[in-house]
Amino acid sequence: MSGIPPPNIAIIGGGIGGAFAAAWLRNASVRHLDVYEASERIGGRTLATQDQDETWATVELGASMGITENRYILEAARSLGLATELRSEVSWRGGGRLAIVGAGRKLAFEEGAWKATTLVRLLSRYGGRTLYRLGQQGSEFIRNFSRIYAAQDDGRAFATVDELLAVGGLHEWPRRSCAEAMAVLFSDAAAPAATELVAGLMRNNYGQDWAPSGALCCFTAIAPLAAGGSAAAIGLVGGWEGLTRGLLQSSSRSRSRRGSAGEDDPAAATIGATRPQLHLSRQVTSVVTQDDGRFVLSFADGSSAARVYDHVVLAAPCPTLPATAEAHDESPNLLRRCAPVPYQHVYVTLVWGWLDPAYFGKSEHAASFNAKFSDVLVADAAGRSVPFLSIGRFDEQHAPPAFPSAAVSAHDSAECARLYAGAHDGAGAIPRWKLFSAHELSPSDLAPLILCHEERLTVRHAWTSPGAYPISRPRNLSSFVLHESVSGGLFLHPSAIEAATSAMEVVAVAARNAALLLVQRLAQIRRANRLRENAELHQKFVEANAARAEADAAPPKSQFPRGETPNAKVGKGECAAGERVQPGE
Ligand SMILES: Cc1cc2nc3c(=O)[nH]c(=O)nc-3n(C[C@H](O)[C@H](O)[C@H](O)COP(=O)(O)OP(=O)(O)OC[C@H]3O[C@@H](n4cnc5c(N)ncnc54)[C@H](O)[C@@H]3O)c2cc1C
Repeated sequence: MSGIPPPNIAIIGGGIGGAFAAAWLRNASVRHLDVYEASERIGGRTLATQDQDETWATVELGASMGITENRYILEAARSLGLATELRSEVSWRGGGRLAIVGAGRKLAFEEGAWKATTLVRLLSRYGGRTLYRLGQQGSEFIRNFSRIYAAQDDGRAFATVDELLAVGGLHEWPRRSCAEAMAVLFSDAAAPAATELVAGLMRNNYGQDWAPSGALCCFTAIAPLAAGGSAAAIGLVGGWEGLTRGLLQSSSRSRSRRGSAGEDDPAAATIGATRPQLHLSRQVTSVVTQDDGRFVLSFADGSSAARVYDHVVLAAPCPTLPATAEAHDESPNLLRRCAPVPYQHVYVTLVWGWLDPAYFGKSEHAASFNAKFSDVLVADAAGRSVPFLSIGRFDEQHAPPAFPSAAVSAHDSAECARLYAGAHDGAGAIPRWKLFSAHELSPSDLAPLILCHEERLTVRHAWTSPGAYPISRPRNLSSFVLHESVSGGLFLHPSAIEAATSAMEVVAVAARNAALLLVQRLAQIRRANRLRENAELHQKFVEANAARAEADAAPPKSQFPRGETPNAKVGKGECAAGERVQPGE
C-alpha cells in the first residue's frame, strides 16, 4: 500500500456537468472532492420557476427535455427516485399540436386533430422522401452517439472532443455546417423541410439560424423529431434542477439505497465512498500550478484562502477574464488556457393569456385556436416579423389569482372576461405560454400577441451570462485537457464539448469522460508511486546488503595486539586447524 495520501480533486461548476463529474468519480479513491459554484444555487442552466403558489406547477426556464435514448440522465433520475414524464402524456400542454409560423406571420404548417390529417399535411408540404431521409439521418445520429456509451462502459477515455466523437463517427460534423449536412438530404437548400422544420427546431432548441450552424448542433436539435417527436420527449417532474441537486447532495433516500446502487449508477456518488463537498457562492478566479505541480485555486471574494488540489475539472463554460500582462508571469492563470466560444443570449418570458388568432392571420375564436396548440415554431420566412424564437404551452389547472384584473387593457377586457368565463365553464384551462426570444420581450411586444396579458403575472429570465448555449458554427474543437502538471496532475475541461453541441446528456457524457481520464491517471500515478517505492525499497535493501557484506568482509576487531592473534600465521585460503571452506562461502 502506497504511503502517498489519496489525491484532492476540485470541480468548478455546480451545474449538471459538475454534478455528473462528481457522480462518476464516486469510486475513485479520493481524499476530498470539492465542488465550487459561483452562484448561490446549484443547477446552472437547469432552472425551474419556484413554486410561488403550491397550486402552480413548476415550469422549466432552462433545459426542459431529454429523449428516451438519453441513457445517463434517465438512469440517474431513476436511481435517485425522481419521476420522469413523457411530454405527450402530460395534461398541461393543451391540445398538444404543433404549428409553424411562416411568411406574413401566417401558419405555414398546423398539426391536425387526427394523426391521419397530420400525416397528409406533412407529406404534402414536406414530401415523403424528404421526411423519411430526415428521420433516418436523425435516427442514425442517435445510434452513432450511443456508441460512445459502449466505449465508456469499456473504460475508454479520450483526451480530445474529436477523439470522443470519433467513436460514433461524428468527429467531422462539428467542422461541417448544417447547410452542408442538409444539402445531402435535400436537393434544394430552400426546401420547406429545411427552412421550416429544421429552422424551427434550431430556433426553439438553440435560438439560432440553422444554415450557418454546426451540423452536430443541428442534428441534436432534430434528434427529438427523429426519436418520435413529443412521444419521445421527456421531462423531469419538478424540473431537471432536481437531478443536479440529487446528484450533488446526499439525501436520506439515496443513503438508504447504499449497496444497491449498481457500478454504473452515477447517483451513487451521493452515497459512495467519496461524497462531494459543495461550496456555494465561491467563484474560482484563478488556477495556477505550484512547484510540486499541484493546482492552487483562488476565489473571487478574496476572503477565502486559496486551496490546493492534485486535479481540477472545469465543468463550466470558459470564464471571461480581464486582460492582464500575466502571460509573462511565473505562474499564469491556467483558466486562460480555456478557448472561449461566444454564447447565444436567450430570454424566457412566461405569460398567462390567450394567443391572439388575429396575430397569425386567423379569424377563428381565441378559445378554440388556443385549445389546439402547444408549440409554435418559427420558420425562416417569418424572419424578424415575430419577436419570439418559439412558444410552448405550460398551463395550470388553476387560474392565477384574480385573473384577468382590471389592469388588462381596456380594448380586450370584454373579450378577456368572456374567455375567462369560458375557461371556467370547462372550455379549457387558462393557457400559460413560455416564449423564447433573442431580445427581452417588452409589454408592447406581448400586447399584440397575447390576449389578456397581465404584466404583473409575467415571469422573465435572461440567459446572458455567458448565455444559453454556444453560438454554433463549424469550428475546430479544443482538447479536454487544459493542462498536465509535472506531478501528473490534470486540469480538465469537459465543457469543451459544448462548442460542438450543448445538451444535458452531452454534458453528462463529457463528465463521464473526464472522470475516466482522472481515474486512469490516478491509477497511473499509484502504479508509478508503487514502482518508485519498490525501487526505493530495493535500493535500501541493496545498500543494507552491501553494508552487511562489507561488515562481514572486514577483519574482526582484534582483541589481541597486532601480530599476536592465535592464527597469525594462517594465510588467505588456509584454514585454521579443523575448519573447511565451502565453495561460495
Ligand atoms: C433556455 C435553455 C434551454 C435548454 N434546453 C435544453 C433541453 O431542453 N434539453 C437539453 O438537454 N439541454 C438544454 N439546454 C442546454 C443545457 O441546459 C446545458 O447543456 C447544460 O445544462 C449545461 O450544463 P453545465 O453543467 O455544463 O453548465 P451550466 O449549467 O452552465 O453549469 C455551470 C455552473 O458553473 C458555475 N460557474 C461558472 N464559472 C464558475 C467559476 N469560475 N467558479 C465557480 N462556478 C462557476 C455556473 O454558475 C453554473 O452554475 C438548454 C439551455 C438553456 C439555457
